Amino acid sequence: MSNLSIAVYFPFARFNVVSQNAHLDLKHPGTQIRLEPDRRCRPVCRDCGAAGRVHAWGRRRFIRDLNVGPAMTLLDVAQRRVWCPACCAAKVERLSFADVSQRITHRFAQYIYALCKVMTVQDVARHVELDPKTVKRVEKQFLQQAFGQANYDGLRVLAIDEIALRKGLNGYMTVVLDYLTGRVVWMGEGRSMETLDAFFAELTDAQKQGIEAVALDMWDPFINRVQHHCPQAKIVFDLFHLVKAFGEVIDEVRREETRRAACKEDRCYIKGSRYLLLKNRDNLRPDECVRLRELLKVNERLSAVYVLKDQLKMIYQYRRRGWAKRALDQWCTLAEEVDHWLMRRFIGRLRRYEHGILNHCEHRISTSPLEGVNNKIKVIKRKAYGFHDPEYFALKVKQALPGRKTTTEIG
Ligand SMILES: [Zn+2]
Repeated sequence: MSNLSIAVYFPFARFNVVSQNAHLDLKHPGTQIRLEPDRRCRPVCRDCGAAGRVHAWGRRRFIRDLNVGPAMTLLDVAQRRVWCPACCAAKVERLSFADVSQRITHRFAQYIYALCKVMTVQDVARHVELDPKTVKRVEKQFLQQAFGQANYDGLRVLAIDEIALRKGLNGYMTVVLDYLTGRVVWMGEGRSMETLDAFFAELTDAQKQGIEAVALDMWDPFINRVQHHCPQAKIVFDLFHLVKAFGEVIDEVRREETRRAACKEDRCYIKGSRYLLLKNRDNLRPDECVRLRELLKVNERLSAVYVLKDQLKMIYQYRRRGWAKRALDQWCTLAEEVDHWLMRRFIGRLRRYEHGILNHCEHRISTSPLEGVNNKIKVIKRKAYGFHDPEYFALKVKQALPGRKTTTEIG
């Protein structure tokens, strides 16, 4: 008989391992570890942590723990009740290794959380043989502890964006980003005035006054609320948001041209070209470049719109307001030649928000961080189990975008 003991693997305060019951020859090997209270210790009240005396012996419970080798491991624990002198009542005993209300140990929960950082909830659930709902609940608890507390100190430059979670008007969430650190500061449902009001309501007056600039979409409800809550802040319509807005024009022109295409061949060219037109030219593969060139050769209108997309970027290369203004004027003159109602509407918006576009000369907000955030959120959206739970989704985004820990830039 070996002297080796499995007890060292279960170093739980106030409990001792007394026996094990292993079934290793089965298809699903398992083991039950029986724990008994250490009689030398007094039981502790679940609610207040005070030591009391045993009030009653309840039923035995099974709590899932980390596997021992290949065996799914259950702790077989007596659930006692404690007479608590502080609460003056009979209470459930507190366990050092598990939450009384949960059927898994703390260390098993931690393992699940660690897996969720790199795997989807479904994959984790399959791996640990638990219900996906349980896995998600465990992960959400940890996320709440780590990212549930808001921190609005030291905000100077914000970027506000909306993301579409579902199709339809109600499927939007608003994301507030600390542009200088890349941290997602706040997320809320909707993209209305009320949504941003809810964000600003959480800030103190001093925190609001500290905000110097806000990068935005040309979206009136947001503009209105930023001007209302932070009148000192400069509103900047950055290139990222502008190109995104112009993408709508490209998309609509493309759709119309597909419908208007006279022959089947032309239609084939245009069909499936959405991605070619919207994507950054530098990111296209050589064969995609060829397809794009052919498409632009065939269709004059699409070609004009595409050139305008490139030209839009030129406005943002100037650091002097006067030069940027001249580039903007030139752009609008060129754009007016494309006869399309969406183009006219876009020019109208540019003219109306000209001030915010030229503010870019003082507050240079580069596109790549915003693009990076957007892409990351898209990935989470694809992977997140139950993203119909906006709170959980927001926590996942905050976890993925905690920001750089640079304090030198601030203060
Ligand atoms: Zn108590």
